[in-house]
Amino acid sequence: MRPQSLTPLFAQVTSLPGIGPRLGKLVEKLAGPLVVDLLWHLPFALIDRRNAPEIAGAQAGTVATLTVTVDEHLVPRNPRQPYRVWCSDETGRLCLTFFNGREDYLKKLLPPGEIRVVSGRVDLYQGEVQITHPDHVVPLDQRESILRVEPVYGLTAGLTQRPVQKAIAAGVERAPALPEWQDPAYLARNRWADWKSSLASAHAPAEEQDLAPLHPARARLAFDELLASQLAIALVRHHNRTLSGRATKGDRRLHKVTLEALPFELTASQKGAVEEIATDMAKPERMIRLLQGDVGSGKTLVAFLAMLIAVEAGAQAALMAPTELLARQHYATIAPLAEATGVRLALLTGRDGQKLKKETMRGLADGSIDLVIGTHALVQEEVEFADLALAVVDEQHRFGVHQRMALSSKGQAVDLLVMTATPIPRTLMLAAYGDLDVSKLTEKPAGRLPIDTRTLPLERIGEVVEGVGRMIGTGARVYWVCPLIEESEEVDLANVEERFGLLSTRFPGKVGLLHGRLKGAEREATMAAFAEGRLSILVATTVIEVGVDVPAATVMVIEHAERFGLAQLHQLRGRVGRGAGKSSCLLLYAQPLGETAKARLAIMRETEDGFRIAEEDLRLRGAGELLGTRQSGLPDMRLADLAAHGELLQAARDDARLVIDRDPDLQSERGKALRVLLYLFRRDDAVRTLRAG
Ligand code: ADP
Ligand code: MG
Repeated sequence: MRPQSLTPLFAQVTSLPGIGPRLGKLVEKLAGPLVVDLLWHLPFALIDRRNAPEIAGAQAGTVATLTVTVDEHLVPRNPRQPYRVWCSDETGRLCLTFFNGREDYLKKLLPPGEIRVVSGRVDLYQGEVQITHPDHVVPLDQRESILRVEPVYGLTAGLTQRPVQKAIAAGVERAPALPEWQDPAYLARNRWADWKSSLASAHAPAEEQDLAPLHPARARLAFDELLASQLAIALVRHHNRTLSGRATKGDRRLHKVTLEALPFELTASQKGAVEEIATDMAKPERMIRLLQGDVGSGKTLVAFLAMLIAVEAGAQAALMAPTELLARQHYATIAPLAEATGVRLALLTGRDGQKLKKETMRGLADGSIDLVIGTHALVQEEVEFADLALAVVDEQHRFGVHQRMALSSKGQAVDLLVMTATPIPRTLMLAAYGDLDVSKLTEKPAGRLPIDTRTLPLERIGEVVEGVGRMIGTGARVYWVCPLIEESEEVDLANVEERFGLLSTRFPGKVGLLHGRLKGAEREATMAAFAEGRLSILVATTVIEVGVDVPAATVMVIEHAERFGLAQLHQLRGRVGRGAGKSSCLLLYAQPLGETAKARLAIMRETEDGFRIAEEDLRLRGAGELLGTRQSGLPDMRLADLAAHGELLQAARDDARLVIDRDPDLQSERGKALRVLLYLFRRDDAVRTLRAG
């Protein structure tokens, strides 16, 4: 149950003064439906109205608060003309200008002969001091109320500053004093105030520097948010760990056979990853481990070795890929190895015929199949396992957390290995998964040569075509990628088809076309023809981004490279340089290049290190965009900015770890306060894992 003290914060925004049903909808769109959502909406700027000069001293371009006598209303005869009100003080005249001003309203606001205090941005009108649409007009006795610094909030269409400021101020007013959930020593070291005061000062900036992300008030609120999220993740994980797990120990008998069958040695990081996974699986707790490795770093093999541990222990393992194509590719890689080791392997996808599917499902249910590779067809309700011990999920950011869980729930205390080819920056990792165990494949398999990456303006495409012609003359195989440019799939398709047409005319019979609209069988036939060298050029959309594996392909041409994100370019380039041949990548761009696009292409030329590229991507794009929040399971941060608060995130992780060690049920004084924090940030799910009390 959410603590009583938080009730005022969890009321609808329409309970705030000035927010009726109409504004309520807009505020909800802006921040969210509840008072607490609006409180997380911090100002991005401020207006200082403390500047109170006389008229003669008012500087154009500044915000000023002036005390003036109202002299005369000039009502326009033509409604398109502005309505002007002339005012004055001892030093000069001031013109107040209103477009579409209503006479009755303005006469009441600014009665001739009376003194009024007006505040707004000053400019010059035909040499006279002018304020157009003053922000405030009040009688003299209310002067103090506007001589202050106003927070300025981000708005949405239809909303204006005033009601938002008023509603937020009222919300801050309502905020209860809450028990301190932060470690007192940490609080003191950072000179942070309590939650309520921090909230109030974050909404009441007095100078520019108060808006900085590391200003104490903002930093404290950001840390609260990060701590809530890290603690919630840690609690759920702690809870899952203590659920009965299983110890899956292999005897390495199948590993030995596999390694002997391989024509190469494992890289040091592959060996390391396999050992880490084996150690985790052997523990009686559930494994949740991320296997992170650049394209071509050999994750599939590590996954297979992990799966063999399950088989050695007499159980089953499953590998789920995000697409049909990838599932088939994994299957093709693993099948020969499975055969060499005598392990029974099956493929299960949505496209299998009913009969085959039934047969596979029977095999999984009675245990006659050891390993299965498939798409999300694997998580269908009808699929049952005799004894699933390990679930491997590839390219996890394409699956929801839900699907991952669905696969794990097909067995008892299933160990989970998540593979990703997109190196995720450390900060994002931590924010999304907390203190997750990670194995990294940091080196490329031996014998791989660096890829020669060049950037060229699109105008030189003619030279590129000629160059490609020379290369395929010597037996090279070339990917030619066209981007998705338009919103409409038809137009995009027209683009690849046009490119396909042009290249086929130039190189008859040598060019294939691959895009998402093709039927699976057609796609596979084209892929096979390219893999076997019957086709030399494969024109494709980004369907080849993930996983397509033709080691003999050595040239990657990307048209309109400026339209791709860094991670995507890196993924695409990773399709070449997978074999022993020297590879090259040509990035064709349309001019003029924007700053960000220029930076992206420069990084591509500079490095092939996926981890470095991921960090740069975070820097260029910001965290939110890097991984779709929903897909990645990245928590939606309102107060913390991962680019600015990276260190706070680490601290929050350490703090959460400490709490779990000392007080996993949140029973201490601080523990009880931390429960309030979790509710404040709507992590009720984490609180539910706690024992009552
Ligand atoms: P990833 O899934 O990480 O992109 P893959 O597992 O598809 O990489 O491996 C890419 C290619 O490298 C495959 O053809 C695989 O057989 C090969 N490979 C894997 N490990 C090694 C190694 N240690 N030495 C040489 N080649 C390897
Ligand atoms: Mg792979």
